Amino acid sequence: MQISIDRDRCIGAGQCALTAPKVFTQDDDGFSELLPGYEEALDGATVKEAVRVCPVQAISLD
Ligand code: SF4
Repeated sequence: MQISIDRDRCIGAGQCALTAPKVFTQDDDGFSELLPGYEEALDGATVKEAVRVCPVQAISLD
């Protein structure tokens, strides 16, 4: 699973980090980024939920 975050679209709502805290975090400006080693903690259902809850559809999966 390839996870892409459109940081131009991200508004820093933090829902992704709340939903999938082993995969997403927020940088100092509040924008979403992937945690180092997130592949080890990948849970497809949880990541799909993070995609769903993002208010601006900034996360996409391939
Ligand atoms: S939920 Fe969406 S808008 Fe909020 S931090 Fe995550 S990617 Fe950005």
